[in-house]
Amino acid sequence: MRLKFLGSGDAFGSGGRLNTCLHVTTAETAFLIDCGASSMIAIRRFGIDPNALDLILVTHLHGDHFGGLPFLLLDAQLVSRRTRPLTLAGPPGFTQRLAEARENFFPGSTTVEPRYKLEILELPPERPAVLGPLRVTPYVVKHYCGAPPYALRVEAEGKVLAYTGDTEWVDSLVPAARDADLLVAEAYFFDRKIKYHLDYKTLESRLADLNCRRVVLTHMSADMLRHAGRVACDVAEDGKEFAI
Ligand SMILES: [Zn+2]
Ligand SMILES: [Zn+2]
Repeated sequence: MRLKFLGSGDAFGSGGRLNTCLHVTTAETAFLIDCGASSMIAIRRFGIDPNALDLILVTHLHGDHFGGLPFLLLDAQLVSRRTRPLTLAGPPGFTQRLAEARENFFPGSTTVEPRYKLEILELPPERPAVLGPLRVTPYVVKHYCGAPPYALRVEAEGKVLAYTGDTEWVDSLVPAARDADLLVAEAYFFDRKIKYHLDYKTLESRLADLNCRRVVLTHMSADMLRHAGRVACDVAEDGKEFAI
């Protein structure tokens, strides 16, 4: 498995970074984890072929994590002229919120029949879903977004990629991330504790329980970016790649 950060930013463009978008490839498939509002810009900037994506996993229903989908689906229809099937998988409530977002941004866009097979799935928590060659297990975390927010554990090729999504510390992050080959973790602040977001110091105090081989911090505020030289983990950047 290989991971490339197409977007490693928060919702507010801190550090000039693009919204969350993780591009993952295996020998058999290519997929995204999250597709924030700026993701079509990121896809073009980093030369990713959107028609090569089989799947887009969505952690939670905030614009900086799923707001790129109305653009990507319109691109698939009008510009990239997609024919390959596409699966979108998110938390309960995803189907309706996605339809609302598409209609708000591009009225009428949900009434056009796609020329490719578009499947939209709502994944139940803590039940492994087999999606092509991947096994994906969502865990409910704590982040207000009008629907259950997820951390994701993705297994492929005998490796585990885990992603916290946006959340304050919750114990469900332990089964989501335990023994992962790579954990992508939110670090919104360095040591300031706020509701619904993770800070580096809290994460650091839990890393022994998680026992991950490698940890990459993402979704950093301007405060966290100022402290990025003081951390013991890897730090994401737009365009940065990791072998898993
Ligand atoms: Zn976010
Ligand atoms: Zn969020």
